[in-house]
Amino acid sequence: MSEELFASFKPYKNRLESYHKLPGKGREIDDIFTELSTIANEEDAKWKTGKCSGTYYHAGEEHRKFLNKVFALFSHVNGIQIDTCPSVFKMESEIVSMTANMLNGEAVKAVNPDDEVCGTVTIGGSESILMAMKVYRDRALKERNIKEPEIIKPVSAHPAFIKAGHYFGIKVIEAPLGESDFRVDTDAVKELITPNTIALVGSAGNYPHGLVDPIDELSEIALEHKIGLHVDGCLGGFILPWVEKLGYNVPTFDFRLPGVTSISADTHKFGFGLKGTSVILYRNKSLRRYQYFQSVEFQGGTYISPSMAGSRSGGLTAAAWAAMIYLGEEGYMESAKAIMSVADDIKKVVQGIPELKIVGDPTFIISFISDELDVFLINDFMSEKGWRFNAVQKPSGLHFCATRPQTLVPDLADQFARDLKAGVEYAKTNKGKEAKSSALYGLNATIEGQQMVSEILYEALDYFYKVV
Ligand SMILES: *Cc1c(COP(=O)(O)O)cnc(C)c1O
Repeated sequence: MSEELFASFKPYKNRLESYHKLPGKGREIDDIFTELSTIANEEDAKWKTGKCSGTYYHAGEEHRKFLNKVFALFSHVNGIQIDTCPSVFKMESEIVSMTANMLNGEAVKAVNPDDEVCGTVTIGGSESILMAMKVYRDRALKERNIKEPEIIKPVSAHPAFIKAGHYFGIKVIEAPLGESDFRVDTDAVKELITPNTIALVGSAGNYPHGLVDPIDELSEIALEHKIGLHVDGCLGGFILPWVEKLGYNVPTFDFRLPGVTSISADTHKFGFGLKGTSVILYRNKSLRRYQYFQSVEFQGGTYISPSMAGSRSGGLTAAAWAAMIYLGEEGYMESAKAIMSVADDIKKVVQGIPELKIVGDPTFIISFISDELDVFLINDFMSEKGWRFNAVQKPSGLHFCATRPQTLVPDLADQFARDLKAGVEYAKTNKGKEAKSSALYGLNATIEGQQMVSEILYEALDYFYKVV
């Protein structure tokens, strides 16, 4: 069943050669390059229209070419080999320091002069989050002898926290959102705290709706209970500081709040580096120490590793560093301004359609729901027109995350207005019809359905890893 369901994920079947084993004799360079360029160009065409939500965070073709050149200089370098390539730690220490400064790291000194924001570079937002959760688990075991650790996360927070629970044996408790503002309900969070709670989580902004949780209130709760507070700024960390400076209403979420003990921020999203880097920051070095790993006894020599990954490409580090140095505050401000202009246009279009309702008070992600219409029918229509929204659930909605590619299409808002209005008409005329884009969500309604969905999703992964 899943093979049929997921067949569209294998468009190169019967078109390109499939390799079940190494070719006996290697192919010609030109031949390989031609094949890969063809498919890369075809796939790029899907987002170059500006109609694709999120996903492509690079800061323009020139910027990408520059990063690729930088990557090439260090592509073969292993970040773990500190003796032969000290450059990687030079760049990573600076990436961490610049990110800490952007997120008001110096504010921690006013609360405790011994604190100093520090961190590491990781391979992505998920690894940053995993590392922070491991830190809280290990700290709680050592300092408070907590053997059955729990964290409390908003339902809207990223699945990486559930993954952390899955990997590290931490119980993940989900807190509901406020009914009208869609930010975590802090009264509910208070109720959920137990003697085993090791940390709270808030997002800035969350993936479903792009909203910033009331981190100031979470900060107070965390201080009162002497537990950690992780702010997931994977998505918003590199844009919200600039959106705030532009004068938009962005709730404070960073180290200016005394209870915030760690923040994740992705250089590979709005940091505009290449995919494969993120930053995890801690309020002080004693927290970071719980992340580190060392093995003195290894036969192969003393081994140290700051995070989960072992070998990492110095090329990715160099690209993240170069992106930050090249853009500077001015570049990030300009990007944020252009992105917010697109987001504002999209917001206005949605606000002008009475059947649709915007979720909360958003900035760069516009998420909408509908009391009257099946938004997934709208999604079906919009997909036909080349738009790629992200479908969200509970409640059913669609979100559009503005990034740089959208800022390059001058009449994007007009196209969006025309297509969305037609999409709403389509959903009205086809009321009751089953939407293609919600096939899985429909099943989710019952326990048996949920089990089926989870089996289908596992089968999907099997299928993706199958050579066809
Ligand atoms: C992308 C994202 C993550 C996870 O990051 P990856 O880089 O995909 O591992 C976590 N939280 C939020 C809000 C995100 O958008």
